[in-house]
Amino acid sequence: MKNIYLNKLRESDPEVFDSLNKELNRQQNQIELIASENITSLAVLNAQGSVLTNKYAEGYPGRRYYGGCEFVDEAENIALERVKKLYKCKYANLQPHSGAQANQAVFLALLKPHDTILGMSLASGGHLTHGARPNISGKWFNAIQYGVKKEGNDKDLIDYDEVEKLALENKPKIIIAGASAYPRIIDWKKFRDIANKIEAYFMVDMAHYSGLIAGEQYPNPIEYADVVTSTTHKTLRGARSAMILTNNEEIIKKVNSAVFPGLQGGPLMHVMAAKAVSYGEALKPEFKTYISEVISNAKILAETLVQRGFRIVTGGTDSHIVWLDLTPKNLTGDKAEKLLEEVGIACNKNAIPYDPNPPKITSGLRFGTPAATSRGFNNTDFKVIGNIISDVLDSLLLKEEEKTKVCESVKKKIIDMCSKYPIYKEPY
Ligand SMILES: *Cc1c(COP(=O)(O)O)cnc(C)c1O
Repeated sequence: MKNIYLNKLRESDPEVFDSLNKELNRQQNQIELIASENITSLAVLNAQGSVLTNKYAEGYPGRRYYGGCEFVDEAENIALERVKKLYKCKYANLQPHSGAQANQAVFLALLKPHDTILGMSLASGGHLTHGARPNISGKWFNAIQYGVKKEGNDKDLIDYDEVEKLALENKPKIIIAGASAYPRIIDWKKFRDIANKIEAYFMVDMAHYSGLIAGEQYPNPIEYADVVTSTTHKTLRGARSAMILTNNEEIIKKVNSAVFPGLQGGPLMHVMAAKAVSYGEALKPEFKTYISEVISNAKILAETLVQRGFRIVTGGTDSHIVWLDLTPKNLTGDKAEKLLEEVGIACNKNAIPYDPNPPKITSGLRFGTPAATSRGFNNTDFKVIGNIISDVLDSLLLKEEEKTKVCESVKKKIIDMCSKYPIYKEPY
């Protein structure tokens, strides 16, 4: 790609420019199948790279601790109006810097250290911040973890009976639903009913699904959850950031003081403006079309991989995620991830439920369609991608020479496909 980007940076700091330019080229020349990533619009990049980064704005619109906040107030109010419309909720806090911090803010607002929490285990596709041992959520709270069914008709699906049993036994103060690898629709109402039985708070972390929900193709948790957290940069395709939503006035008051001054100082107002832009984009009818393509691309990818002899965890997908089980092919996640990266496909190794291999090796891969769909890859392309992935992974079982031959031809194919769909069509 020509160096038409980031002109000022190139002039004043060639060293950093070089890293950014190489990253731009990597994004252009690889097929991005990391499920948590996406490609924002140029308008989002403009807002995020703007003068709003110069401004301190501790506090909330209309009640800041600094002068000169008139226009950043405007930007935050636009973002608030749009996000409330998008998710049909009454209140929002848009200041958390990241998904992990949004979750921390909810914990700070509603819990005390050593309280019991109930979340989905990392090994079943949950997130670190829902009570995993190495995370603050697993260190400062008594974290109980639920998982998915090991066998039977509902193998790999959330074990709601286990959730209920653990809830009744342990009486957690909060139950958390939401996941990072789980590709299916989560039954928010079932969680709500369980939480009601023990008068626990019910929190949904919709980080992975928030774009699908905005596009009205995944159930909106807002009517069931006491509080909803999310990142804004995954399927929602916004700035790298997060948000907290609720319909409960008492909870928003507690959340607001937990975010600031409880946990953070000044909000990132350039990111706030970029979020406003992305909410605006998600409110447009085109976004629904985009989300339906994201989901149909994921379904085609899953079907193609099944036809080629792989197993998909849960048997398929209702979302942007395709969770691949490599055990039928006797392959491991780490080797598969490395070889795919070599040929130009970015994805990540991911443990499968009840994985026999350790977390650094794993028996699975996680794919996602949001980023490639954003640049234009369609159903036909995803069938090709599914076959390419199968060719490459099957080649791991061939002799070195034959494997190299397969990989070389795939590399060329991928460069061709990528050049058809530039990630940005104009300079920024
Ligand atoms: C990605 C993710 C997060 C963390 O978001 P960061 O912005 O990386 O901190 C939290 N929860 C879930 C379910 C996620 O998938």
